Amino acid sequence: MRILVIGSGGREHALAWKFRQNPDNTVFVAPGNGGTASVARNVPIAADAVTELVDFARRERMDLVAPGPELPLTLGVTDAMRRAGIPCFGPDAYCARLEGSKSFAKEIMTEAGVPTAACAMFTDLAAAKDYVRKQGAPLVIKADGLAAGKGVVVARSLEEALAALDEMMEKKIHGAAADTVLIEECLTGEEVSFLCLCDGKDALPLPSAQDHKAVFDGDAGPNTGGMGAYSPAPLLPDNQLERMADLVVRPIVRTMAGRGHPFVGVLYAGLMMTADGPKVLEYNVRFGDPECQPLLLRLKSDLATLMLACIEGRIARENLACARAGALGVVLCARGYPGAYPKGMEISGLKDAGNKAGVVVFHGGTVHTEGKILAAGGRVLCVTALGESLAAAQRNAYAALEKIRMPEGFYRQDIGAKGIKFLQDT
Ligand code: AMP
Repeated sequence: MRILVIGSGGREHALAWKFRQNPDNTVFVAPGNGGTASVARNVPIAADAVTELVDFARRERMDLVAPGPELPLTLGVTDAMRRAGIPCFGPDAYCARLEGSKSFAKEIMTEAGVPTAACAMFTDLAAAKDYVRKQGAPLVIKADGLAAGKGVVVARSLEEALAALDEMMEKKIHGAAADTVLIEECLTGEEVSFLCLCDGKDALPLPSAQDHKAVFDGDAGPNTGGMGAYSPAPLLPDNQLERMADLVVRPIVRTMAGRGHPFVGVLYAGLMMTADGPKVLEYNVRFGDPECQPLLLRLKSDLATLMLACIEGRIARENLACARAGALGVVLCARGYPGAYPKGMEISGLKDAGNKAGVVVFHGGTVHTEGKILAAGGRVLCVTALGESLAAAQRNAYAALEKIRMPEGFYRQDIGAKGIKFLQDT
């Protein structure tokens, strides 16, 4: 098959790498990075340039298009590919609003009867402040729209909640994304990522995963795009995946179909496992980065076959084959991330690190120039390893990471620690 992956991060490298496991596939990545160049052909088209992407896919006769990030999906890349008769694994722009608008997601969850945090929505600052004062802290303040992962404030005090409202609704730090603000009850519990492959009618669950958003060990510091991830998350074992799909994914798939927009693609539920049961914090409409990396390392099934089954509405007849063992990925970042960070540092030791069976070094922000791999982003690499257990996967990933040299790099030392502790305690 001829396959086009859209995006330029570690997730897209993992998708391209997985497609290339099948030697019959020819893979293109737009725009790609220094790592995707080693498994696919990079195409210099930006991930949000929908018209150019469709022109390329038509001209180069793609059999499958796999968008990685949410932006092209919310911009309607699937609708445009469909109009051009090109199979595209991702939701249409209407369904992508499940991620692009938190108020839309709440409306759908309510209609579908999916458990989630109680919530009120405001467009008026004074009314929002009144509500916050009445409710008292803790509360969670969320910008309705996409805000580069920074639109959520878990406010522990009333002052924090009021300040967040001022920043979002008066200072407009997220622009129009916070024209509507959601104020949610603050849930407590452990978080788990639950992803399903959806075909518009049904859903096939992938193994559970867990990412680490905070920049420093012990979940300290500001949130990032993700500092590492592992699969499975012991909190959500394989024998509970079907039940979870019935609770938080299939009702959404049915509701979207009822609205005339069958959901095709990955539906990713961010869950909080509370004392009252699982509740949905948010939906994403694509693979997570870096959860995608350990998940695809575990996946034995042919990914393109599964994606086409989704596009053709026959996922119910497919099964998933996965390595029973664990997989874990650690993200190597440039110092300063998620704030300003340097670029251009040369990375060495990549071959040595990736030599061991079961280890793959996925590139996030790199470029390949004159035979060298240089850092070009905040999240530079995701060193991912399989293991007989989560603890073994963790050992393997860190051992591989130690072979890599990058000036001004840093990474969390405790990826997977929480999951391993949970396994020891239970
Ligand atoms: P979201 O983008 O909605 O998933 O929010 C980002 C992060 O904020 C989540 O991963 C949680 O850690 C936290 N969060 C979101 N909503 C809530 C909530 N209702 N209660 C507690 N924490 C939350």
